[in-house]
Amino acid sequence: MDEFTLIKDYFAPLTRGFAGSLNLADDAALLDVPPGQQLIVTKDAISEGVHFLGNENPALIARKLLRVNLSDLAAMGATPLCYFLALMLPGDTDSDWIEQFAEGLKTDQAEFSIHLAGGDTTATRGPLALSLTALGLVPQGQALLRRGAKAGDDIYVSGTIGDGALGLLSLQEKIIASEFLQQRYLLPQPRLALGEKLRNIANAAMDISDGLAQDLGHICTASSVGATIHRPLIPLSPAASGLVAANPELWNAILGGGDDYELLFTAAADKAPQIQSLGDKLNLPLTRIGEVTEGSGVSVLDETGNQIKLERRGYRHF
Ligand SMILES: [Mg+2]
Repeated sequence: MDEFTLIKDYFAPLTRGFAGSLNLADDAALLDVPPGQQLIVTKDAISEGVHFLGNENPALIARKLLRVNLSDLAAMGATPLCYFLALMLPGDTDSDWIEQFAEGLKTDQAEFSIHLAGGDTTATRGPLALSLTALGLVPQGQALLRRGAKAGDDIYVSGTIGDGALGLLSLQEKIIASEFLQQRYLLPQPRLALGEKLRNIANAAMDISDGLAQDLGHICTASSVGATIHRPLIPLSPAASGLVAANPELWNAILGGGDDYELLFTAAADKAPQIQSLGDKLNLPLTRIGEVTEGSGVSVLDETGNQIKLERRGYRHF
């Protein structure tokens, strides 16, 4: 497989419809930023043996890589523009693998209105490693940041929490869970439509990738505030609810496990009706789980109002 065939056959077709890519035929991409807009740029890198096993369907690996970046764009309130891809391929990678990988990208490009605009491919003597940089646009001054939370704000999450963490435990054969939960881990849903609509509603936002408790801590640190969340208010899917009812220790995975890719945001209390109707319109539950406080740190309270000691606060990358 030579690099030029690989680009022509599998990657150039992914740029069609996006003029700024120059069809991957020049030294770099050429991008216009419309007046009054700002660029949001995010990057994620994953490697075999750390983030995925390597025997997964290549299309799924591609889609998850794209989606975790799209989730960061959503968290900033951005509209997707384009992405750049770097592939570090072991010598035994065959064209079948590349074809399926590119097919996965194609599927999600169509779903999320984004195009490939450039990248690089290289051989590696190590395991397969992939990196993706996604760019999005946001109107000047309207990006959702972590630092805007104010004492008295309500704290919300989208969707349901803990499904991805339970799905991963199940894929690791540590628990028995439904395919729904495994899918939630393998193919997260970036909340792009929600992020765009929250631009004028939320005071602070981020996506939950490393665990609800730890990620909320990042908003608190950035905003110099504290937070209290109420465990009974945390929205669970029926599948997660069933598992945690049978084994309450799984709350640790739900609060600290990560891989939710739901949005966590804070908003002034008087925004509640607007948030309610936004959730209805998007057909996506937006649930108030607590409040921003003066001070620092995250407290999680149980059914009786007692503070829960968390065994692990979230995913550690190193
Ligand atoms: Mg993030």
